Amino acid sequence: TEEMLRKSDKLSIVGQLAASIAHEIRNPLTSLKGFIQLFQENCDIDAGKYYMIMLDELNRIEHIMSELLLLAKPQVKSYCDTDLNKLVRFVATLLERHALVQNIHIVTDLEKDIPLVRGEENELKQVLINLIKNAIEAMNDGGIILVKGFREGDKVLIQIIDQGCGIPKDLIDRLGEPFFTTKEKGTGLGMMVSYKIMKEHNGDITIKSKAGKGTEITLSFPLQN
Ligand code: ADP
Ligand code: MG
Repeated sequence: TEEMLRKSDKLSIVGQLAASIAHEIRNPLTSLKGFIQLFQENCDIDAGKYYMIMLDELNRIEHIMSELLLLAKPQVKSYCDTDLNKLVRFVATLLERHALVQNIHIVTDLEKDIPLVRGEENELKQVLINLIKNAIEAMNDGGIILVKGFREGDKVLIQIIDQGCGIPKDLIDRLGEPFFTTKEKGTGLGMMVSYKIMKEHNGDITIKSKAGKGTEITLSFPLQN
């Protein structure tokens, strides 16, 4: 039955996830353990210069944990009629200053009175934050991130268009794999969380990208009847 299918689906995802979490956390833990052993064996060692590295490792674990908690917490979900334009404005304002520091302007182009969609606002904010953050992180030389909201046929679309480094064709399919990241300090969880949330909204994420030119990510939501 469909329910059983969904359960076994979930189990294999949990299994995959558990393996990669173990791996991701073991690395910084091994390194921390190494440092502590080093200090224990050499009491006169100048520990000070290693603290930064140790803190980095701890921060990495903390970062992974906080993203995982978002997934694991059985959050109370409340779906309501959602104005996606309003969410876009909220998140754009939230990230505005963070973007400006890197000489990036977030520009919105929002069609008036787009239909409301059925949505869990906190989760959808999370998706927008994840995607716009990725756009910011892709644009080393500054520029513009354009966020559009409009209706097209029986769908409401939100597009996030950046002028960043782009994504090589062969990597596009790997986005959403847990812990797939090309960043030194990335977690590789943002896209996975976003796909999961969009799926729960019966929506979709499509990605168009040109290496060196930029990326266009489209969120599509079904119209309510
Ligand atoms: P993280 O941001 O922690 O690396 P994500 O799941 O958010 O994890 O993204 C996974 C990978 O997808 C990123 O490391 C990056 O390579 C790629 N990516 C996602 N969005 C973009 C974008 N807008 N431009 C370029 N690359 C992107
Ligand atoms: Mg990210």
